[in-house]
Amino acid sequence: MRYVSTRGEAPSRDFDGVLLAGLAEDGGLFLPETWPVLTAAEWRALRGLPYPALAARIVALFTGGQPDEATLRTLLEEAYAGFGHKAVCPLVQLDARTFALELFHGPTLAFKDMAMQGLGRLFDQTLARRGQRVTIVGATSGDTGSAAIEACRDRAAVDIVILHPEGRTSEVQRRQMTTVLSPNVANLAVAGSFDDCQDLVKAMFADAAFRTEMSLAAVNSINWARVALQIPYYVAAALALGAPDREVAFSVPTGNFGNVLAAWVARRMGLPISQLIVGSNRNDILVRFLSANDMTVRAVEPSLSPSMDIQVSSNFERLLFELLGRDPKATAETMRRFRTEGRMPVPDLAWREVSQVFRGFALDDAGTLAEIARLHRECGYLADPHTAIGTAAALAVPPADPAVPVVVAATAHPAKFPDAVRQATGIIAPLPPRLSDLYERPERLTRLPADLEAVEAFVRSHARRNAA
Ligand SMILES: *Cc1c(COP(=O)(O)O)cnc(C)c1O
Repeated sequence: MRYVSTRGEAPSRDFDGVLLAGLAEDGGLFLPETWPVLTAAEWRALRGLPYPALAARIVALFTGGQPDEATLRTLLEEAYAGFGHKAVCPLVQLDARTFALELFHGPTLAFKDMAMQGLGRLFDQTLARRGQRVTIVGATSGDTGSAAIEACRDRAAVDIVILHPEGRTSEVQRRQMTTVLSPNVANLAVAGSFDDCQDLVKAMFADAAFRTEMSLAAVNSINWARVALQIPYYVAAALALGAPDREVAFSVPTGNFGNVLAAWVARRMGLPISQLIVGSNRNDILVRFLSANDMTVRAVEPSLSPSMDIQVSSNFERLLFELLGRDPKATAETMRRFRTEGRMPVPDLAWREVSQVFRGFALDDAGTLAEIARLHRECGYLADPHTAIGTAAALAVPPADPAVPVVVAATAHPAKFPDAVRQATGIIAPLPPRLSDLYERPERLTRLPADLEAVEAFVRSHARRNAA
């Protein structure tokens, strides 16, 4: 299987190449040259497989044999072994037609673990096979850093350094990062803002000599392998509800468009998904696009669902490429105008096509709290603010056919956002047992000024390739 860039100016690559590169050299995103499509009989044959085996079967359709399905199965069995639920991502019925697909039973209590736990091991396996190693550097305002650290801890071919703004993350978020004491993990508490941290990471990547010396790599949400690892749970949920012999719909609380894109890929592969619902908070650029073809950038506003406080959804470029008939020149030009003019010019015909499959719904903070309270009152279900936006969207813009079940991607554990949950329900959501001693665990971090030279010197000393 080969991969092409959405902007058409980068050479095609195999799965290894896409995994290790992340972004294409022309600034585009990688997509498979052709989509694997399964027949109804092939979908049926997947019913009843344990989740890691199902996931290996699906991901293997995208790796071209390297790694092969057996290797993937071993790797994914290990990736999901530590999850807090035997089913990995259980489906919970909320009412007659609505289900929650709980994607938050991983180490950091959010859906990113579903992909990141596999991604860290894929990196390790691929690097070991090629006799290489990398240093992953990243900046976090709190959430993604812990998922990356949990994914990379104790991996032999990977060192990881995560920068966070000192004193500006929540205590849970900081502790989820700093209590990981594995020797290949380092946390830098930078005297500055999140933007300072991000600028430092960008500067490290822009320093070509340093980048090569350290073999710098990133594990951000535009990596194709992350999208690939998110497809299997849509397959699992749809099969459980009767696919391929019954249609299903999904409602996905959306930020960077990675999670809902994976659902779209499952549909493209032939799974009978009748509708995809995009949930947003007041940062509603995608909802404005889906309702009125208005993709205009506005300032990001903070909300109770911070993982969706995004204006530019980077993975949208992959869907755009498909909508434009896989025309890389048109995609590059559309993205260029989006960057310079702050508004994405999507042709009406393409927009009509997308709005037949996708519906959007936005909810403000008051609505989110009301929905958390309603779910608790009417369904006996404790939901985090992101998940609540997904259930509210499922109710607001459901598929026309009432026989079609709607599966909501439950993207975070309620204990990850305890303040909103308590405000809405009066209940303090308890941390799962495996995390209940988080506040007693020892922490390790290094404080540094927001200074490139100091940060680079630290990264150099941390990377074990130099210590060895
Ligand atoms: C990252 C995240 C999202 C958004 O997912 P995208 O793939 O960026 O659209 C939603 N909810 C939670 C809890 C998240 O951590």
